[in-house]
Amino acid sequence: MIYPDTQLLIDGEWCDAADGRTLPVLDPATGGTIGCVAHAAIADLDRALEAAARGFLAWRDVPAIERGQALRRAAQLMRERADAIAYVLTREQGKPLAEALAETHMAAEVIEWFAEEARRLYGRVVPPRQLSVQQLVLRDPVGPVAAFTPWNFPINQAVRKVAAALAAGCSILVKAPEETPAAPAALVRAFVDAGIPAGTVGLVFGDPAQISAHLIAHPVIRKVTFTGSTPVGKQLAALAGAHMKRVTMELGGHAPVIVAEDADVAGVARASAAAKFRNAGQICVAPTRFLVHESIHDEFVRELVLNARSLTLGHGLEARTTLGPLANARRLAAMEQLTRDAVQRGAQLATGGARVGEQGNFFSPTVLTGVPTDARAFNDEPFGPIAAVQRFRFLDEAIAEANRLPYGLAGYAFTQSLKTAHLLSQRLELGLLWINQPAPAWPELPFGGVKDSGFGSEGGPEALEAYTSTKTVSVLCL
Ligand code: NAD
Repeated sequence: MIYPDTQLLIDGEWCDAADGRTLPVLDPATGGTIGCVAHAAIADLDRALEAAARGFLAWRDVPAIERGQALRRAAQLMRERADAIAYVLTREQGKPLAEALAETHMAAEVIEWFAEEARRLYGRVVPPRQLSVQQLVLRDPVGPVAAFTPWNFPINQAVRKVAAALAAGCSILVKAPEETPAAPAALVRAFVDAGIPAGTVGLVFGDPAQISAHLIAHPVIRKVTFTGSTPVGKQLAALAGAHMKRVTMELGGHAPVIVAEDADVAGVARASAAAKFRNAGQICVAPTRFLVHESIHDEFVRELVLNARSLTLGHGLEARTTLGPLANARRLAAMEQLTRDAVQRGAQLATGGARVGEQGNFFSPTVLTGVPTDARAFNDEPFGPIAAVQRFRFLDEAIAEANRLPYGLAGYAFTQSLKTAHLLSQRLELGLLWINQPAPAWPELPFGGVKDSGFGSEGGPEALEAYTSTKTVSVLCL
């Protein structure tokens, strides 16, 4: 298979940038250049915005049932093309091929779910105060959307936005990640080939700050949706606020994992390691701060270390690989700094903690124990294969630690006690809590955080509603 160069999609046409500029794309497993991506100029953005405005006018009038049919065709194309798309995703992002394939198939599921949900975007009839009045609450698509998506799940983070916006009747202009451009382009291509009108979906790459400043401020754009880090999310939300644009912000996390004294230690360690090291830990909901009851702490660490050491590091295209490289060199440097800082502050390195090899961004799966609360690993989102462990004696201590950080995205708890599970579900300040299982983020469930982890949902009916506005219509029937 061949890794393709990636173009912009403007007004239904795949094209180079107006000034011909491109950026190189690297293979994170080797550091070598594998292709290039078009770098949009302002002139390209303006053409894409005009097309999005026209695309919206065409698409909003397509009946919901027909919008759903087009989405289903796109889902079918994703399935038919899954092998080729997964190859591209692994080449540019590094994740093992099996994970890339799973991400592609999950995208098809997400599209289908929103295709169905498009038909259930109901309004309301509100009882009037006068018999001759009829009061309706209509749901209108909000308008052209600007979406900014990251490199950790290049397809999954984009499909949740594109499928929901299109299901609601919006057009959407996506600024996808320059480091992993071909996989999101393959996703967008499925919608184009499914026959949606020109301009309904657009795709650009370039200078993220320049593109977000231009699109968010532009009068054509009515909504902004971003997945990425909390600092960038705050900047974009502030910009959107200055221009009175509504936002969905899916930002960083620092997921606590509370392992209570009655948990099944071997099972928890197995499940935790699978969730921690998937996608080399570059997941906003990755389990990160392990808070383990002192009575089972040592046994849990032993098991977690065994699981970490059983992983096979390698190029994502090799069948035996279960842990790929980090997606970029920035993450490699971050892992080295977080590990060094934790050890300097008194943590013990139970396994890993170092770069592997001289080529590519490989970092060994790492378990740190006795991590002090002031260590950076216990405060900054690692976004990599580092598990940081602390012991606790009383459940209240673990709850306080879980809620200590400004993040509030995902959390995990393991216990056989219904009482403990109930208490944790009441007390933890999170958008997502998985008890006794690290669950996949199914499209039918709300997905999003509280506090600094963001605002709004990327799953469930809430995700669709976020692309609509209400219009109250009150009719005096003469
Ligand atoms: P970053 O914070 O600069 O970038 C994060 C994402 O935002 C990237 O996709 C980038 O292209 C985009 N971005 C950056 N500046 C932007 C701007 N002004 N306008 C629009 N988009 C912009 O750094 P990074 O090194 O790419 O990632 C570092 C951190 O980001 C990670 O440690 C993690 O905390 C977070 N992150 C979170 C997610 C997530 O799923 N929530 C995904 C990727 C990265």
